[in-house]
Amino acid sequence: MNQSLTSFAYLVAAVLFILALRGLSHPTTSRQGNKFGIVGMLIAILATFAHGGMNFGWMLVILLGMAIGGGIGLVAAQKIKMTALPQLVAAFHSLVGLAAVFVAASALNAPQSFGIGTPHHIHLESLIEMSLGLAIGAITFTGSLIAFAKLQALMKGTPITFRGQHQLNAALGILIVVLVVLFVASGGSAILFTLIALTALALGFLLIIPIGGADMPVVVSMLNSYSGWAASGIGFTIGNLALIVTGALVGSSGAILSYIMCKGMNRSIINVIAGGFGSSGDAAVGATNNEGKAVKIGSADDAAFIMKNASKVIVVPGYGMAVAQAQHALREMGDILKEDGVEVKYAIHPVAGRMPGHMNVLLAEASVPYDEVFELEQINNEFSTADVVYVIGANDVTNPAAKSNPASPIFGMPILEVDKAKTVLFVKRSMASGYAGVDNELFFRDNTMMLFGDAKKMTEEIVQALGD
Ligand code: NDP
Repeated sequence: MNQSLTSFAYLVAAVLFILALRGLSHPTTSRQGNKFGIVGMLIAILATFAHGGMNFGWMLVILLGMAIGGGIGLVAAQKIKMTALPQLVAAFHSLVGLAAVFVAASALNAPQSFGIGTPHHIHLESLIEMSLGLAIGAITFTGSLIAFAKLQALMKGTPITFRGQHQLNAALGILIVVLVVLFVASGGSAILFTLIALTALALGFLLIIPIGGADMPVVVSMLNSYSGWAASGIGFTIGNLALIVTGALVGSSGAILSYIMCKGMNRSIINVIAGGFGSSGDAAVGATNNEGKAVKIGSADDAAFIMKNASKVIVVPGYGMAVAQAQHALREMGDILKEDGVEVKYAIHPVAGRMPGHMNVLLAEASVPYDEVFELEQINNEFSTADVVYVIGANDVTNPAAKSNPASPIFGMPILEVDKAKTVLFVKRSMASGYAGVDNELFFRDNTMMLFGDAKKMTEEIVQALGD
């Protein structure tokens, strides 16, 4: 295949990737979006093979690599629980970062194979692109490993902070810039290359350790963006249009998502990029002292009775609904209530669950009508008009400590103001805190009733009681 035909195929793939992103922006079109993405990737791979310049032996090696990687991906995608997706995504981002480091190393080692010069005589622009891809890739690699360890609870989820942390990060950032300049000026010194890699690996680690608790979603989308830019940088080095465009698409869509998540969490995007959100560093500081306070405990029958007599019920789903896979029982409950003339709406917090759009996906899977599902800013002033709020497996996203306690790690995050409703029903298994590790004083309010149990089981019992 000649160069212009390959470029055309890459262009078609890029258009399909853009259509994929567009499709993924709404549950109704997301399957179609995925199909566009698959076809786009297939075209990009075939065009790369057809471009030529590769001997048969190497083609086999690449196919073998693809079969091993694709096989692992297939098994991981089939086995992974929906609730563990954020850590899987973080793990995959780390691989993108590592791939960028490896491609940069091989481009430095054998520049002639990439058409970017000969050893010690690499083109200037290639040296710049290579070192940027290397630095961003290495930051993405260690940053994503830390994010994975935190999300998988292999290390403490709370922020790890120390005196002079921001200054150290800034110093490492400046050091990377200096090393990149020296590397380019040296024409591609292997020692400077190694120093850039090591400094960037350390920076990736240091950028992510101070981030914790409820701020992790922003980190995941930020690392997604970094991995895209790393791929794009490497795409320039090896002169692959498809990689440049795909990397830029991932980088910019990840950055847009990070911006949206920052807005949802009321955080500054600059602070995210710099690492650490000015958190107190200790989740326990945000805990309220609720010892000795009374809690009202109810049963499924109580909940059914209250909801039957309501005219408006707002459902607030959270991580616990995903764990229990309670969305189908929830839809059934909504259907019965609607048949009885009760108005039912669903309120989604931007960081509810463990990944962006987690709740929307689960509700869509259970065929909850889209026009009953509302985002935080659309529904927050409706809670005062609701008779009942059914909080199913959500906790942090309702916690008033985000508004009232400046020492809390979730301080500043907008919450769903469920306490404004006449009655708040909390379905959860215990009094335990949510992801951010902060006690929720709503459990002790007069208008709250705790429904202790598994979210699916409790909702099924309510469905049964509603039918009696
Ligand atoms: P939370 O983590 O705050 O609370 C979930 C609650 O669900 C827990 O308190 C738990 O209580 C309960 N629960 C767990 N399992 C079950 C079950 N089987 N049945 C019933 N209840 C159950 O979830 P939210 O959705 O309110 O908030 C999300 C949090 O996760 C935020 O802090 C967010 O920042 C963070 N996060 C979000 C990500 C995202 O992209 N959306 C990614 C990473 C983190 P109990 O144990 O008592 O049952």
